[in-house]
Amino acid sequence: NYSSDLRKVTLIPGDGIGPEISAAVQKIFAAANVPIEWEVVDVTPVRGPDGKFGIPQGAIDSVNRNKIGLKGPLMTPVGKGHRSLNLALRKEFNLYANVRPCRSLAGYKTLYDNVDVVTVRENTEGEYSGIEHEIVDGVVQSIKLITEDASRRVADFAFKFAKEAGRKKVTAVHKANIMRMSDGLFLRCCRDAAKAFPEIKFEEKYLDTVCLSMVQDPNKFDVLVMPNLYGDILSDMCAGLVGGLGLTPSGNIGVSGALFESVHGTAPDIAGKDLANPTALLLSAVMMLRHMELNNHADKIEAAALEVIKEGTWRTGDLGGKAKDLKKAEIPNEPRQPIY
Ligand code: NAD
Repeated sequence: NYSSDLRKVTLIPGDGIGPEISAAVQKIFAAANVPIEWEVVDVTPVRGPDGKFGIPQGAIDSVNRNKIGLKGPLMTPVGKGHRSLNLALRKEFNLYANVRPCRSLAGYKTLYDNVDVVTVRENTEGEYSGIEHEIVDGVVQSIKLITEDASRRVADFAFKFAKEAGRKKVTAVHKANIMRMSDGLFLRCCRDAAKAFPEIKFEEKYLDTVCLSMVQDPNKFDVLVMPNLYGDILSDMCAGLVGGLGLTPSGNIGVSGALFESVHGTAPDIAGKDLANPTALLLSAVMMLRHMELNNHADKIEAAALEVIKEGTWRTGDLGGKAKDLKKAEIPNEPRQPIY
């Protein structure tokens, strides 16, 4: 599917190491002749007519127009009154499913070999609905909101994803033994979704059991689908199984568009020093290409990136190497190598 039609993709380079790793992805995409055109937008909050800070309209329009975007990490200032921009983007574009494939990479040894799991996290509600209040002094209440619509949407997505990715099994992760109504509803929606995909095996497991089994033998799992908070925690745990955040890509799937991003943050300690590993953003961009059905390009770039890690000569500091962008590095009398 090498299409000659250029498709526009919104690029949010982000903060800290974001611009460096975005530039690396752009270079690699150009070298691989990927038929996309980047529309670079800035999401630094601007003050709107109501006096409140928000995402600039130009950035919102770009994502709504292109329906697909790649995003570097964004800094969330610590302190009162700052809302997470990531959360704002999630809300603005109704990005309801967060997908994170965690796969062992050949050549980069971690505690576990052959990890190959995908977490699908409900991204819009649950414990992160932001509904909290103080009932009386010293007593606060936080609402866990679970709706049938959002649960169905993410459950259907998990099975559809599993089928399209040639996966065999979906595990619904829950605590319906304790939270009978909320997790019970989520689980029922997963059971219903399973009926439409008889070729995919379905199982239900308690969150605590999944944590235990996952660290004992990650091979027991394939695709996992779960409410927001469980997904937040379990997806980071799975990233840890394959070597940490620097290598883990992700996708946020929305009702009318999708935004792909690396899992790590802005890495302020190494920003501007040409030390950042662009692999997570590159693999996120590969996921994006698959979402756009540009599978040949995705396969080619992914294979090249994984081969470089496997071969081991060019590795960034986080993987125990010293590699930088070779264009900037001084390596006299050596042939130009592909970056990293
Ligand atoms: P971080 O992920 O930025 O950094 C943690 C450690 O991992 C640092 O030592 C860093 O150098 C290293 N690291 C991260 N990415 C790397 C890469 N690609 N290559 C090499 N090393 C890498 O986490 P943090 O320090 O907790 O957060 C810093 C900022 O990032 C905060 O403002 C936070 O809000 C933000 N953040 C944003 C996102 C996002 O936009 N999705 C996610 C997490 C954190």
